[in-house]
Amino acid sequence: MAYDQRLDGSIGLTITCGDGRIQPATDKLRREEFPEVINFDTLTAPGPDGYFKAGFDSEAPHGDPQFGVTKGSRKASFLADMSIYMTAHPTCSLHLDVHEECAGHPCDLNQHRNDAMRMAHELEATFPQIGELPMLITITRRIEANQPGFVTEVIERRRMESAIAQSASV
Ligand SMILES: [Zn+2]
Repeated sequence: MAYDQRLDGSIGLTITCGDGRIQPATDKLRREEFPEVINFDTLTAPGPDGYFKAGFDSEAPHGDPQFGVTKGSRKASFLADMSIYMTAHPTCSLHLDVHEECAGHPCDLNQHRNDAMRMAHELEATFPQIGELPMLITITRRIEANQPGFVTEVIERRRMESAIAQSASV
């Protein structure tokens, strides 16, 4: 059944890694940053920012050839999955999160920050309606080296003020 905003409430889209260690921190932050959003669609991929790093498509394919998995096909599949949510649901906000110690995209924090920004630019170019949506870009890292626990920090807030003004006027 189609998403009914009157019945189900407002809905945002979160794009993050599937790594379970980071979920409590990212969920806490997005609920604080988007208090007007009731539900969050969550699209996970192993290190989704890695799909958008410079030169990704030209790198050697990886994955299991038995299943025809290549880097390019993984990115195409990710974008196709995202288009389902963007088309079927009245998405009112977007949250992009990347994280430290990522098995899907192992690199340092600066690279994650750069690739998160590239991901934001490319998604805005691919899905024009995103240009209207408030967008939060975050990075999740260990609170302290060699200690349990992660914290999510804001890299950039885009169009967030207008979202807050809109929810206040409803
Ligand atoms: Zn990860």
